[in-house]
Amino acid sequence: MPTLPAQLANFIDGRFVPPAGGAYLDNIEPATGAAYGVVPDSDGRDVQAAVDAAAGAFPEWSATPAGERARILLRLADLIDANLDRLAEAESTDSGKPVSLARAVDVPRSAANFRFFATAILHTSSEFHETDIASSGPSPSSGQSGRAINYTLRRPRGVAGLISPWNLPLYLLTWKIAPAIATGNTCVAKPSEVTPMTAHLLAELFGEAGLPPGVVNIVHGTGLGCGSEIVRHPEVPTISFTGSTPVGRWIGETGGSMLKRVSLELGGKNPFIVFDDARLDGPAGAIETACRAAFTNQGQICLCGSRLLVHRRVFPRVLEQLAEMARAMRPGDPRDERTQLGSLVGAAHLEKVDSLVKAARELDGTVHCGGARPDPASLPARVRAGAFYLPTVISGLNPSCRVEQEEIFGPVVTLQPFDDEDEAIALANGTPYGLAATLFTSDASRLHRVASVLDAGIIWANCWMVRDLRTPFGGMKQSGVGREGGWDAVKFFTEAKNVCVRL
Ligand code: NAD
Repeated sequence: MPTLPAQLANFIDGRFVPPAGGAYLDNIEPATGAAYGVVPDSDGRDVQAAVDAAAGAFPEWSATPAGERARILLRLADLIDANLDRLAEAESTDSGKPVSLARAVDVPRSAANFRFFATAILHTSSEFHETDIASSGPSPSSGQSGRAINYTLRRPRGVAGLISPWNLPLYLLTWKIAPAIATGNTCVAKPSEVTPMTAHLLAELFGEAGLPPGVVNIVHGTGLGCGSEIVRHPEVPTISFTGSTPVGRWIGETGGSMLKRVSLELGGKNPFIVFDDARLDGPAGAIETACRAAFTNQGQICLCGSRLLVHRRVFPRVLEQLAEMARAMRPGDPRDERTQLGSLVGAAHLEKVDSLVKAARELDGTVHCGGARPDPASLPARVRAGAFYLPTVISGLNPSCRVEQEEIFGPVVTLQPFDDEDEAIALANGTPYGLAATLFTSDASRLHRVASVLDAGIIWANCWMVRDLRTPFGGMKQSGVGREGGWDAVKFFTEAKNVCVRL
């Protein structure tokens, strides 16, 4: 394993610096339960220093030609690729996810985020409207005649506050940093205090990539002690947040009262619908895909399909085969390249997941497999004290009970049968969330009909988690406000100015 720094530091104005208050939090490896380093427990003073650095760097960075900004971001992407092993091993150690997953998904996607926005800014165009003044509608200009042209300028907004969660640490942090700085903003980024390591390692690459000091500042610490200081800071007009719905609600209220622009990517309780005409078996069939959608990253992806809705005719078959697949998945040491199922992010989160499974039992749900921690003797000696949980399949719950309504964010999937399309749609839409939905059917008309009425910002049909970075990403209802990705991200991080010129 690579040697990871034992004491992390904030990265402000191009330098690693200790927290002003000198306080640190333990950084725990969830697969062992042991602290393997410390992370700054920053406060308002550190946030102030980071905002000062970002504000100081803004005039020059925002005036840097797009082609030069793109070159720097592309170099950063190449450096991430060159450090693939070190970053993947760090992500796995810090979060408990299998190193194979971090190597195949988290780290390559982080490089892709920089590449995508580096090139996007070279290819975006601006809106243009030609106006016939006389027929442009009643206005004080009605007496005028002739033509005018309108064009829209897009300018960076200043210092962006970027706050990200622990489940895809580098992947989601770079999904915010890349569009923010590509469009000419500078930023103060706060990774989750639970998984800070890869943000620190990323900062080690900034200088080599040629990123000027102050463009990206990273402040580590808790949500209350440090994240809230970013949200409340008057010189941070833009906040991009990914995390839980309760925290998002507070950020929305606080940022809204200060008239900030806020993007909120929040929790989900995503339905995965299997119609009786779907291809069930084989690779990429409905059952294998449902299994991946439920248990990838130990079920800790906001897009996981945690509510499996299955047509009654095929319900017994889907339930039986899914439970069989889940039983065959054995948690192992995340460092082992063969491990498919790692540890949850920590002991406290494991308790939360387990308490919802206990609630399912009390509500007369049937737990077909899992529903417990693995026998420690079944785990390699190094990870016997880790936060492991067996893949869990539950049926028989009332769709309105809390286990079917609350986000569990762990390796737990519940199944509900349905009799027809209307019932499937009602069940799918019957939670406060609206992030993602998946449906499997071989009937093209049904596919488009159902997709059009599902309450979800992201819909996959006959696939799951296929991502094109140009598409709008985000949720409705309690899953968030706003969209990230592609043109939406460019718009979010820029201020539109319409210029109207009478010809
Ligand atoms: P969380 O809301 O507890 O924390 C997210 C981040 O916000 C962390 O960096 C945390 O320190 C910070 N934070 C906490 N309180 C804060 C406050 N008052 N002010 C400012 N910052 C604060 O979420 P989590 O447990 O880290 O992540 C899991 C959640 O994230 C799940 O609900 C999951 O669905 C959601 N998520 C959503 C998406 C999406 O794209 N919609 C993606 C990944 C995760």
